[in-house]
Amino acid sequence: MAAKKKINEREALRQALHQQGVQLTSQRVAVFEYLSGVEHHPTAEEIYLAVKPKLPRISLATIYKNLEALIKCEVVSKLTYGDAAARYDIRTDHHYHTRCLSCGKVWDLNAVEGSAWLKQVKPQAGFEVKDYRLEILGHCRDCRR
Ligand code: ZN
Ligand code: MN
Repeated sequence: MAAKKKINEREALRQALHQQGVQLTSQRVAVFEYLSGVEHHPTAEEIYLAVKPKLPRISLATIYKNLEALIKCEVVSKLTYGDAAARYDIRTDHHYHTRCLSCGKVWDLNAVEGSAWLKQVKPQAGFEVKDYRLEILGHCRDCRR
């Protein structure tokens, strides 16, 4: 069953890329599969170190290019943090995150969209709301040890 699920995911990925005229390469598959397998949202550097044993000829620059291709095809989203390294997320729907102030790792936060308190938020007159972010900051279990 697990193998079949993987094939279906691969086919869905192939189709999403094809729609944007992007080819499904072994590098893109490796980046995508690493992202779907990790609990947190890694940086490009972490992805590079993780896929390098499988694809020894890959460079960090190529990782960035592959990530940009996956973002263009809307199968990966990019989370930016000012001066800190961007992180990459397999989820492209609107959702929230927790972020560790020590190690910088980012995880999905399971919170209900459109919670009651959010409706209480009143921006100044004339302000048109387009989007919002919610991030819970703290120290993760590993960093608290
Ligand atoms: Zn941490
Ligand atoms: Mn996420």
